[in-house]
Amino acid sequence: MSNKDYYSILGVDKSASKEEIKKAFRGLAHKYHPDKKGGDEKRFKEIGEAYSVLGDDKKRAEYDAYGRTFNGAGGGQGAGGFDFSGFTQGFGGGGQHVEFDFGDIFGDIFGGGGRSAERKRGRDISIDIELTFKESVFGVERRVLLMKTGTCEVCKGSGAKVGTDTVTCERCNGAGKVHETKQTMFGAFSSTRECEVCFGKGFIPKEKCPTCKGAGVMRREEEMTIAVPSGINNGEMIRMTGGGEAVSGGVPGDLYVKIHVKQDHRFKKEGYDIVMPLSIKLTDTLLGSSQKIETRGDLYVKIEIQVPNKLSRSAKKAAEMLRDEGI
Ligand SMILES: [Zn+2]
Ligand SMILES: [Zn+2]
Repeated sequence: MSNKDYYSILGVDKSASKEEIKKAFRGLAHKYHPDKKGGDEKRFKEIGEAYSVLGDDKKRAEYDAYGRTFNGAGGGQGAGGFDFSGFTQGFGGGGQHVEFDFGDIFGDIFGGGGRSAERKRGRDISIDIELTFKESVFGVERRVLLMKTGTCEVCKGSGAKVGTDTVTCERCNGAGKVHETKQTMFGAFSSTRECEVCFGKGFIPKEKCPTCKGAGVMRREEEMTIAVPSGINNGEMIRMTGGGEAVSGGVPGDLYVKIHVKQDHRFKKEGYDIVMPLSIKLTDTLLGSSQKIETRGDLYVKIEIQVPNKLSRSAKKAAEMLRDEGI
């Protein structure tokens, strides 16, 4: 899964919503299914691969940031390892034409069964920050205000009114999950989903927190401190685990911070070194001179001698005198 433009495979914009991506996937999966007239197995698989990434918030964020996804990062999402070829063979052996909604089946497998064993995870957030050259060299602490779903400050995420007890959820008997079996043409798919009453926590507040209405999370502005390490480069990404959006009864997503370093007219980076070009006159190299420079740790000064384009008659004479003296 590398260097493929999943957005163009699904024919959607980079800013497409989750719903738009899903819709595009459904339409294309119908169109290119190998058992259909005009179907294309290669395209079909490609479409499935693109959707397994773009249809998943975390993988999509990784793909947007790095152009690839990382297997196993944040727990195996069901869709990633899904084998489409086996799936395809399951259809219409014998050539009978079967019509049904792929979207629903994929949706069940990817959205339901695949993720059921995992803990619910909040959305990732990505932001951009701009640093001066100096900040990128020495590191800096940046404070940013983020509007996001965060843990309720009043009940600290419990959802219970402060000072009141919680009781076991009756819907799931405290398990936080409810089991479900669905019949599909491939057989029965058993899936487990989160209890919608207690948000997967297994208990509910006797009295709900009035601030978050019992959810334990709420949308609010949060100030975050981002510690930018020294020596960071333009375009690098910092990942702050748990800095993303919170979710009821689950773990928060991550915050991705993309670094933009403003160009400095005096300094630039060459690998691990900082180089400063210093323009001096030819006579300075001959006669010596002192230059004041701002230093930053190890600094290489690149001397650029200003060679004159034209020499006056007397300057030429002086240069010839230098040559005669062997300089
Ligand atoms: Zn609350
Ligand atoms: Zn429950």
